[in-house]
Amino acid sequence: MRIGVDLGGTKIEAIALDGAREVLRRRVPTPRGDYEATIAAVSSLVREIGAGTVGVGIPGALSRVSGLVKNANSTWLIGKPLKEDLESAIGREVRLENDANCFALSEATDGAGQGAEVVFGVILGTGVGGGIVVRGKVLTGPNAIAGEWGHNPLPAPGPEDLPLPACYCGRAGCIETYLSGPGLTRDYERFNGEQLAPEEIVALDDEAVGRYEARLARALASVINVLDPDVIVLGGGMSNVGRLYTEVPRLWSKHVFSDHVATRLVRNAHGDSSGVRGAAWLWDKQGEER
Ligand SMILES: [Zn+2]
Repeated sequence: MRIGVDLGGTKIEAIALDGAREVLRRRVPTPRGDYEATIAAVSSLVREIGAGTVGVGIPGALSRVSGLVKNANSTWLIGKPLKEDLESAIGREVRLENDANCFALSEATDGAGQGAEVVFGVILGTGVGGGIVVRGKVLTGPNAIAGEWGHNPLPAPGPEDLPLPACYCGRAGCIETYLSGPGLTRDYERFNGEQLAPEEIVALDDEAVGRYEARLARALASVINVLDPDVIVLGGGMSNVGRLYTEVPRLWSKHVFSDHVATRLVRNAHGDSSGVRGAAWLWDKQGEER
């Protein structure tokens, strides 16, 4: 049995996979702000499910220097030896990976990127993250940040992108400040003076969605120029906007350094389950570390 755990900011979800088939699923609220209780919650979910390999997706990464959690928006995990603490609580070896990497692994293994050699998985949600899977393996990188394009600057900002919005990471004009759900809300408010939820904006205002698409096209074109992926899979709340899949590839051509762009832009196949499924796949022979 492969057990996958998605340690999110609001809920902790665990599944058991028998082959590719989900046989069990459990969910509890995340004890926000309480590290010890978070360890206990994950460990009791895993024990409840039973025997099997354990993979955990986290909203952050393990520093390759210190082994401690970094880059987590669930700030109570930052600086903690999460892998060691989970292993001693559960009594099993645990594989930990960034949640966007788990998303990409899930979609590359048996989702929308199945069969592709290079998959770039993108989360467009409360935050913006990304993960890279090459021939079935997660690319982590020496800094454990491979695929983290959300805190690159938005390419070629024009008048409608200025002034550059401040980002929580300390920089300004990060891709995340435009392409996250809150980023769309902020942009709409700047142009229309009203604060609306992303789904309301999508239903109401083609111009705002057009600005979003133009920015996404430029941001993804820079990924295509570097990585040249076969498939880009979108996840997170904004991946439900259907017109992105026709408009963005139409727009990105002029920013990609190639006469023809063969890269496909597709919607995820596993929805919200991709994070937890990818965590379960971390122990698959294809998911082994480099
Ligand atoms: Zn940033």
